[in-house]
Amino acid sequence: MRNIRFLLLSTLPLLCLLLIAAACRGKNGGAMQNVSAAKNTVPVCNADSLWHFVARQVAFGPRTPNSEAHRLCAGYLQAKLASYGASVRIQEFEARRWDNALLNGRNIMASFNPEQTRRILLCAHWDSRPYADRDTDPDVKRTPIDGANDGASGVAVLLEIARVMQQNPPLAGVDIVLFDLEDSGKPEWENHQAGDEYAWCLGAQHWAENPPVPGYSASYGILLDMVGTYDPCFAMEATSMYYAPDIMRKVWEKAALMGYGNIFQNRATGALIDDHLFVNDLARIPTIDIVHYDNRAQTGFFPHWHTLGDNLEHVSASTLKIVGDVVLATLYE
Ligand SMILES: [Zn+2]
Repeated sequence: MRNIRFLLLSTLPLLCLLLIAAACRGKNGGAMQNVSAAKNTVPVCNADSLWHFVARQVAFGPRTPNSEAHRLCAGYLQAKLASYGASVRIQEFEARRWDNALLNGRNIMASFNPEQTRRILLCAHWDSRPYADRDTDPDVKRTPIDGANDGASGVAVLLEIARVMQQNPPLAGVDIVLFDLEDSGKPEWENHQAGDEYAWCLGAQHWAENPPVPGYSASYGILLDMVGTYDPCFAMEATSMYYAPDIMRKVWEKAALMGYGNIFQNRATGALIDDHLFVNDLARIPTIDIVHYDNRAQTGFFPHWHTLGDNLEHVSASTLKIVGDVVLATLYE
């Protein structure tokens, strides 16, 4: 994932197209509902369980495309989701990386309450970045990263939500989609040009263009990315606000009611290229990104973003729990 700010000149034609396309199809629904009605029945996440799910993924090693760790972790995620009662579909595909390398991708889609017509999409990317290209040490820039926060954190929250839903099913149908090949975009050391944005989020692009369930749609979607950092800051990211402002306000108001208004901040930030961009634009499901992003910081992202420091040491179980609890409160309202 990266910041559109850095690609502004190269992506301007794309952004114009997106703006026109979205203007043509109108705005998204999703009215604020009475949040007190389901107050006593909303389940919560377990912090130890969340931590375990991050550690378990990181233990495979970097889940970089075409690696053994990637293959083994996919099997783990598939089995775990199935063990929580989901109907799991695997979408295998091939995609070209920025340097034309052929990558074997695997999107994992787990459906709960498949008989329900009203559906909610929850997603995260499960691959990890093959380069520590933001590391200050020049000798490690081509080393794959653990992606404990950038990748594993969002997946961990979704695994925990799956576990909780099995014990206490929500009324709505829920589809958890773990996208592959999000983080193999062009490294910082290369020259950048128009069209580079399509080298990110390859799994989400494939999924949105080839829905594994024909005609699939959902009332709304929530993407989780980099949701495990200490000192989190989830601001109102511009791509989300453009496509799904009502959903974003609903979730942020929910977080504020739960006492997390200092973390889910009522503040606009720049636009990001992340999986939600393609889910919104190609699959046309209004989807927000809960992502640590603070454009007052140098890169906007957490300090260890795309470095070898994105490891277990820098993941906070309490942040994971806050995010999981806010998503659960939204699902169960
Ligand atoms: Zn990343």
